[in-house]
Amino acid sequence: MTTASPHTPESAVDAFVRVDRVARTAADLVRVDTRNPPGRESAAVPVLLDLLGAIGCDTEVFTSGGGRPSVLARYGTGAPGRPTLLINGHVDVVPVVEADWTTPPFDAVVRGGRLIGRGAADMKGGIAAAVEGLRACLDAGLAPDADIVFHLVADEETGGAHGTAALVDAGLVRADACIVPEPTGLRVAVAERGSWQARIEVFGTAGHGGEPALGRSAVADAARITTALHLARFHDRPHPLLGSPTCNVAMVRGGVAANVIAPACELTIDRRTLPGESADDVYASIVRVIEASCPDVDHRVLPTFFCEASELPLPHPFADFVDTCRPRPSTRTRSRVAPDEGFIGLSLGSDARFLRNRLGIPTVVYGPGSIEQAHGADEWVGIGDLTLAARTFARAIAGFADFVAQADNGRVSPSRQTGRQL
Ligand SMILES: [Zn+2]
Repeated sequence: MTTASPHTPESAVDAFVRVDRVARTAADLVRVDTRNPPGRESAAVPVLLDLLGAIGCDTEVFTSGGGRPSVLARYGTGAPGRPTLLINGHVDVVPVVEADWTTPPFDAVVRGGRLIGRGAADMKGGIAAAVEGLRACLDAGLAPDADIVFHLVADEETGGAHGTAALVDAGLVRADACIVPEPTGLRVAVAERGSWQARIEVFGTAGHGGEPALGRSAVADAARITTALHLARFHDRPHPLLGSPTCNVAMVRGGVAANVIAPACELTIDRRTLPGESADDVYASIVRVIEASCPDVDHRVLPTFFCEASELPLPHPFADFVDTCRPRPSTRTRSRVAPDEGFIGLSLGSDARFLRNRLGIPTVVYGPGSIEQAHGADEWVGIGDLTLAARTFARAIAGFADFVAQADNGRVSPSRQTGRQL
């Protein structure tokens, strides 16, 4: 079958993207309460199965060991050798503080060109845009010469162990390339920072508060560690899109009474990481800073969390391909937004890290809405952004087979993986 060229300014599939339909799909998804915690993704399963089944996808439900469901769908034959484009989106959303909202968070109210609701930006709007992209291709009579696979997963917001990581562990993720439709303001994100968190226990010697020099204050020692770590420079090689690693001393707790020298104090730190830094690397960097600045302080560093950074190293043909598929901003927006060219990095993590780091699948993050609109009260996504994103997905889906055939002599992915599995 023919495929539309994504390289034409106005792709043949653009006209088949329907604003009303993508907005309705996004609203239908927002209305399903999938808050995590506790992890209510199962409520979305029937909606997703209906949505994807109705456009001709084979669907199945994968349930993690923890009983959390992800919906897997494939449009295409799954025949060996067919290019496979994966769209990975999470269906869980973060909790809400309902008192802060001006509309009920799961009512999906449309006001002033915005769809308002928990998950509208992060990332049910993105999922709706990707599905609309496939529907537009089919309506245009351009059934893609590639398999289009959707993994609509659980548990991204609390680490992904029951979602994308579980799918990877089960050997169910095979694709030539992947788009994760998290909110990026319609930019193509190719890198993201990771996070390493720890508690630092600081030990002192209690004594009478009237003679502070006679004991050893853990609060005073924790203050020295805080000063050393907070805003510390960990190395001199900033990442071109992610900048330098940072450390935020986020919490402090210590002491027992106003008239007692503090015998113990505890810090909670969050060290943001760059691609290539392991948990051991980061731990060593923290110990180095403390040892250099306050070697006499009695303390213990207890790592509590690690989510690694990831990137699709540039230049990469798939990043260029998705960027080329983006409709350029209209004159309506061009005058009031910053130059809209070039790739971006994200200061937060997404499930893209599992696909990039564990499977080597070329993965970009691209979607409608911005991260500033996510997680807060009155979360929203612009209906116009949904439409622009859907056009990008339509072009990417229509053009993916040609892209794979042409790019890098057909080798998009270092290890080309296709198969019947969803
Ligand atoms: Zn998200």
